[in-house]
Amino acid sequence: MGFSLYIHIPYCESKCPYCDFNSYGVSQWPEVEYVDALVGEMETRARTAPWAGQRVKTIFFGGGTPSLFMPASIAGVIQAADRLFGLVPDCEVTLEANPGTVDQSKLVDLRAAGVNRISFGAQSFNPAILKVLGRIHDAEQTRQAASMAQRAGFERLNLDLIFAVPGQQIEDVYRDIAVATSLGPDHISAYNLTFEEKTIFFTAMKRGLIVPLSDDEQAAMFEVVRTELPRRGYPMYEISNYAPAGHEARHNLSYWRAESYLGLGAGAHSCALDDTFSQGVRWWNQPLPSRYLAAVAERGIAEEGRELIEKRKLEQEFVFLNLRLRAGFEFREFERRFGEPFDARFGEVTAPLVQGGLLVRDKDRLFLSDRGLEIADSVFAQFM
Ligand code: SF4
Repeated sequence: MGFSLYIHIPYCESKCPYCDFNSYGVSQWPEVEYVDALVGEMETRARTAPWAGQRVKTIFFGGGTPSLFMPASIAGVIQAADRLFGLVPDCEVTLEANPGTVDQSKLVDLRAAGVNRISFGAQSFNPAILKVLGRIHDAEQTRQAASMAQRAGFERLNLDLIFAVPGQQIEDVYRDIAVATSLGPDHISAYNLTFEEKTIFFTAMKRGLIVPLSDDEQAAMFEVVRTELPRRGYPMYEISNYAPAGHEARHNLSYWRAESYLGLGAGAHSCALDDTFSQGVRWWNQPLPSRYLAAVAERGIAEEGRELIEKRKLEQEFVFLNLRLRAGFEFREFERRFGEPFDARFGEVTAPLVQGGLLVRDKDRLFLSDRGLEIADSVFAQFM
């Protein structure tokens, strides 16, 4: 069956004020040492359960800004994964890229390195909104990047959009969707801006320097996104993700389906489930890049902490991760994994949510209703 491999590249040219990812604005980065550490960590993990003997079905280079790295560095990591685990024949290899960090030859070299899906952080095509978001690229660079990627042979292309940015109007959301879809990606992610602790936006909000859009404005923009994208040929398959059938992000699907994944790099998280789904283990790496490098040099891994996930928690996570998917999940899949009928475990929680019109239960599956989508987090909380 194989597993999903996440590779974290923590460096960016500058830190965006809304970003709470483990990323660092730098003018130089220790690329050779970092790639050596990724490969060293991979070698250690490849010798241990449950990864030894399993093949890689998807690779995702996330960050940070992985497109800051040279294609030869990315190729080195992909080749190491192939050598140490083996890649399945149709392995999906995604790389996140900032449109301001690529040119035609870099994209051609990334494609030749084995990257077969590219994801650009477009965010918006409105210069004022890009400025609020502190992005280093402009709208024209995104247009160029998408067209260069297609010329370089990337048939699988994602564009990320952000909505509910202070100052943004409903018309901006329509326009961003129109421009994004006109560039011909096969996948669009659209995220509602959130104000996360430890970000510049959060501090500014606390000081009253920036005011989030009201709940009603945010809900209205989400409604535009989830009706306009399908109208233009991009059905919603996950709360923030839209693509025609067969073009879903397979790597991310493995998270939403609550499968095992191995994360390498500074701050990366991993999750390994046992064969019987009676328990799992989650662990996370040292987030600071310099300490990550030192830890891998010393111990071959950079694990900073781990937790055992008991069966009851695995069951909860299975439900709320799968409910993110538009199609939800099949009851028989729950029973196959956990050895008990879904209703025996969650029937009492589910019934009032179905009666209240937040969940839909057809004969063999459970999924969020349109109204449930709007308040998905509070629906998920009922299963915790
Ligand atoms: S480029 Fe992406 S990862 Fe880097 S700071 Fe901006 S949002 Fe965060």
